[in-house]
Amino acid sequence: MTALRLTDIQKSYGDNHVLRDVNLTIEDGEFIVIVGPSGCGKSTMLRIIAGLEAPDEGIIELFDEVVNEMSPAQRGVAMVFQSYALYPHMTVFDNFKFSLKLAGLDDAEIHQRITDVADNLSLQDYLDRKPSELSGGQRQRVALGRALVRKPRMFLFDEPLSNLDAGLRMNTRIEIASLHRALKTPILYVTHDQTEAMTLADRIVVMRAGRIEQVGAPLELYNTPANRFVAGFIGSPAMNFISPDLLPELGAESVGVRPELLRVAEDGRLAGKVLHYERLGTDTHVIVQLPDDKKLTVRLVGQWEFDLGAPITLDFEDDKAVLFDAQGDRIPRASDP
Ligand code: ADP
Ligand code: MG
Repeated sequence: MTALRLTDIQKSYGDNHVLRDVNLTIEDGEFIVIVGPSGCGKSTMLRIIAGLEAPDEGIIELFDEVVNEMSPAQRGVAMVFQSYALYPHMTVFDNFKFSLKLAGLDDAEIHQRITDVADNLSLQDYLDRKPSELSGGQRQRVALGRALVRKPRMFLFDEPLSNLDAGLRMNTRIEIASLHRALKTPILYVTHDQTEAMTLADRIVVMRAGRIEQVGAPLELYNTPANRFVAGFIGSPAMNFISPDLLPELGAESVGVRPELLRVAEDGRLAGKVLHYERLGTDTHVIVQLPDDKKLTVRLVGQWEFDLGAPITLDFEDDKAVLFDAQGDRIPRASDP
């Protein structure tokens, strides 16, 4: 069953055309991650699906039903915001209860749902506290719990973990992944975190300036990006784009090589000098300046040491490079899957 279908969605604020020809279909149970630069329309798209905002044109269908005219409550979709948006004067319990009461559930059912979700998210001991008496991680779990108690037919997450520190982010990411495995409710999840995108998504949607650039499985986007924009956006450190003058034999307008595919090689085709390097423990990232002044990032496994300014020669296997034409579109290769 199709959980969501957006058809030809357009949205402008004044003369700012924020969503352009957005078409997207999501199957029931899918975990979809949306990425794209700040201001490209990700939050606007979620708000339009939730019913907090109306599109200028286009059709929104949830579970094969047109919902354009439906209120947010009727749509049965729950949204979790980066800002948490909790009611500050209410206890955690009442934050959970609020929308259930609005939905007309009886007290026994409300209690049961809140108990279940509080158990699930380890919030049993905090139900009487107000948001100001909670840590950031606990507030985030309350925001998540408030969406969960409603038992929505779809979740919309707008950068839900970006206020958390790295350790909490990882724990909560794992919690969200296992919640999704258990509930199988479809999720649309906006993030700018590469790890979240790569690890959580069944499919990633890459947006730029109001348009969808590519939709695909994480490794499909990583290995066979449709264009230079997607290639540069997915992956950290980002893909290197090398001038074709340095590699004329490849016959492309731009040669993309992932940092981990470059290796230090005597007589390598790319000769430069070491500008900087960062030792992360497991890996060493080396920033190399090429003769055309462009910089490359090389990701070496292990703990390396260099003299700054020293010459270095690099190479890679040609069939691992991603080639782009003059428009920036990827040129298909024989080695494509
Ligand atoms: P993202 O979530 O990808 O960072 P948004 O969807 O929040 O981007 O915003 C997309 C564009 O729409 C931005 O240029 C933003 O300034 C503009 N925008 C968003 N909401 C409004 C609004 N309510 N009124 C006017 N402009 C808005
Ligand atoms: Mg946003």
